[in-house]
Amino acid sequence: MKRKILVTSALPYANGQIHIGHLVEYIQTDIWVRFQKMMGNDCHYMCADDTHGTPVMVTARKQGVSPEELIEKMNEEHRRDFGDFHIEFDNYYTTNSPENREFAEYIYMKLKEGGHIVEKEIEQFYCEKDRMFLPDRFIKGKCPRCGAPDQYGDSCELCSSTYSPVDIGEPFCSICRSVPVRKTSVHYFFRLKNFTERLKEWLDKDRVQPEVRRKLDEWFQEGLRDWDISRDAPYFGFKIPDTEDKFFYVWLDAPIGYMASTANWCARSGRSFDEFWRDEDTEIYHFIGKDIMYFHCLFWPAMLMGAGFRTPTRICIHGFLTVNGEKMSKSRGTFINARKYLEHLDPQYLRYYYACKLGSGVSDVDLSIDDFISRVNSDMVGKIANLASRVGPMLKKKMDGKTGSIPEDAVSLIEDARNKNIVIADLYEQREFSRAVKEICQIADEANRYLEKKEPWVTVKTDAEKTRQTITAALEIFRLLTIYLKPVLPQFASDAEKFLKIEPLAWADIERSIVDHEIGDFKHLIQRVDPAKVNAMIDESRE
Ligand SMILES: [Zn+2]
Ligand SMILES: [Zn+2]
Repeated sequence: MKRKILVTSALPYANGQIHIGHLVEYIQTDIWVRFQKMMGNDCHYMCADDTHGTPVMVTARKQGVSPEELIEKMNEEHRRDFGDFHIEFDNYYTTNSPENREFAEYIYMKLKEGGHIVEKEIEQFYCEKDRMFLPDRFIKGKCPRCGAPDQYGDSCELCSSTYSPVDIGEPFCSICRSVPVRKTSVHYFFRLKNFTERLKEWLDKDRVQPEVRRKLDEWFQEGLRDWDISRDAPYFGFKIPDTEDKFFYVWLDAPIGYMASTANWCARSGRSFDEFWRDEDTEIYHFIGKDIMYFHCLFWPAMLMGAGFRTPTRICIHGFLTVNGEKMSKSRGTFINARKYLEHLDPQYLRYYYACKLGSGVSDVDLSIDDFISRVNSDMVGKIANLASRVGPMLKKKMDGKTGSIPEDAVSLIEDARNKNIVIADLYEQREFSRAVKEICQIADEANRYLEKKEPWVTVKTDAEKTRQTITAALEIFRLLTIYLKPVLPQFASDAEKFLKIEPLAWADIERSIVDHEIGDFKHLIQRVDPAKVNAMIDESRE
């Protein structure tokens, strides 16, 4: 039966460029979405830029532009970066949209009506020169624990302790360095603990990975705390209804952006919003990083519950990217922007490599540069693309480009490769991409061994028909491999389809065959990674 699935990735913040750490999530999600679409499911991938908040406002001020101008420019950049990594959204929108304002106000009013919003007076730092309240990250001072100077208002980079900005020593505004004053104002809080039981019930239905559930249980044990959902003017965001100078905190309207993006896409494509956000038969999958678990596994479903919408089917949480076993680092040149990568390397390498490393768990993903080069060159180029390049040009030049029948000695080899589709599909579904790639590479190994044994490059001189059969078998397996790899490598698959002169492949095409068929001209499907280019990319990323 055809499934109806809505998928999202976390919304990238409009204040920065996309880097290879972000791409772990977008590539992971894109692979899963492409797989679902190949299976014939009614699957749609929504995303948007997360545009509100103090950092965007401050950056725009510094650049002398309006926040709207800044986020517009970033939206274009983000779209281009994602597109060039073959990440294909059904809609890529912005949280600074009329739809998002409408949903944010609606959800807030519902929560208020339900008695889930409370007012409290709080004290914060205020910079009189910049005329704004300073969020934790905009205050600096001495760490209250170790005394290190120039530390942020919420945590110390030296001793990694976390604290409240009011405890920091000799505080100063990180924008203008003047000493801030303390000011009180009324803030609005979302009473999360009202949803404790409903959240637990919801989580009992297999919504998150087991290790995530354990972490959430710790938070339940500590008791769920009220969440400050308001910020004082000036603030770039949506004004809270019935107030003069209060705005929704960026984290309130960011996840609502998933709905706004859906609504915007529905209006364009003639679909109904309610079939996605009210109908329980639809599946909703959120892909996120482990740093924003609290927001997506507690605040977000509670907001949806309070406003009468359906809750997500599953939250798929991944770990962070490390490079050569360490945190991405500007001094080591491993903090690599998407654009910098694209100046030097084929995006397909990174898609393939991340697929080789990604599982369904939350552990970090390590990009080891040497391993990256060797996996791409030995598996993707050496095993998979090579299968086509060893026989394709020969068939075209010496045998009119026409395949024949499957030889007796390859029947079981091909059947095995075809039967693997069930296990590979299941691994994609479970987000066990590394295991799927392993299965795919095993098929490629078998096929290469078969070719070595049959030596078509030798037999072509004496027995053209036998050679045609050998090549037909190899191309049949190559066709199956192309189907299996298509969620990871859509560009490669599209080039392979052109070379084989076949229609775009769906998963169901596993049952078809390439016998008695005329192929197209062979063109190299993928180049080897040049280590010199990898080094140049790292050198240029070093600060
Ligand atoms: Zn410290
Ligand atoms: Zn200031």
